Amino acid sequence: MLVNREGRIAAVGPERDVPASRGAESFHFPGSVILPGLVNAHTHLELSGIAAPIAESDFYAWLLKIRSFKESLSYQDFLAAAERGLKESWRHGVTTVADTGTSGAVLEVLLRLGGRGIYYQEVIAPHPDQARAAMEELDRFVTEHWSRLSGGVRLGVSPHAPYTVSPELFRAAVDYARGRALRVSSHVAESRAEVDLLVANRGPFAESRRLRGIPAPQPARSPVEWLWQLGVLHPGFLAIHAVQTDYGDIEILARSGCSVVVCPRSNAAHGHGAAPIGRYLEAGIPVALGTDSLASVPSLDLLAEARQAARLAGLRPGVLIRMLTLGGARVLGLDSEIGSLESGKWADLCVVRIGGDAAGSEDRAASAVIEAAPEQIVATFVGGRRVHGLPV
Ligand SMILES: [Zn+2]
Repeated sequence: MLVNREGRIAAVGPERDVPASRGAESFHFPGSVILPGLVNAHTHLELSGIAAPIAESDFYAWLLKIRSFKESLSYQDFLAAAERGLKESWRHGVTTVADTGTSGAVLEVLLRLGGRGIYYQEVIAPHPDQARAAMEELDRFVTEHWSRLSGGVRLGVSPHAPYTVSPELFRAAVDYARGRALRVSSHVAESRAEVDLLVANRGPFAESRRLRGIPAPQPARSPVEWLWQLGVLHPGFLAIHAVQTDYGDIEILARSGCSVVVCPRSNAAHGHGAAPIGRYLEAGIPVALGTDSLASVPSLDLLAEARQAARLAGLRPGVLIRMLTLGGARVLGLDSEIGSLESGKWADLCVVRIGGDAAGSEDRAASAVIEAAPEQIVATFVGGRRVHGLPV
């Protein structure tokens, strides 16, 4: 493979067909495969400073603990955590992150360190009276950072979830994003508690809202249908988790052109169940994988996520690798730029040492990649620049 000065792929093929020009820097990776860099389609890297996942079996209690953990952190803490998280991602072969945050630290770190990703600024305010202030804050954030964005670092908007964002704010945030061609992501249909609130106005979320004087949500058949009724689902919408869905929801997601990112280890850790990945794929819905944050899972190892997905949905290694690369690029609207090894795309690469035996057949190589331990990821490149792995 040849990479040009700009950091894009210039040619792909065996060495005899794509000879390097004199003086070009060259790398050799014996017993290894070169893959498109992996796409972690859902993270919260600003939480990467946490010592270990928060062990709390009740999801509502877990959310309260996360909130108080975040309130204990300074902007410097968020920055340090974001940097640690981005470097950890590179170590795991991840070259693009779709990150959701409130502090803005991940955007800052992506720009400073030359990472690639979409940083979704979160809006969260369940009372309709808070909507205007939340939108003003979002606008301030976007305006402040707009001129600093580069091709590799983009902004998105993330209304946190149907149970934490009023209908007024959800609509306003999505309208705002669409008006500026920003992508949208939201935690959707994650827990039973969310379903209980939106379907029947009961359960821990309903109880807490009653105590705080927050109006009950308009009832719907499911969280996905609640969003559909709001009119916020559209092709730039990435539904995070999407565990509590049925055939009707899958049809709505497919019809509105939405994508899904599943986080199987996080869902298992919180006892939410498992997203119906196979049904999403059958319905033609683009599906990617995400780790979620280190407050839920023990590592940012996306291949571990793929192995969990394989156990749940019986997916073949080739399908998983596609979800981790081009599939991830597609759910972020970046598939013309990254996700495959083609001339003109960015040279975002992940090099996995699989040993000579597995290299002979495509199937064996694919399964060796999925089974790879973190230390087998010997190098990671973003835009042709080596960001992980010592020269060999
Ligand atoms: Zn999340």
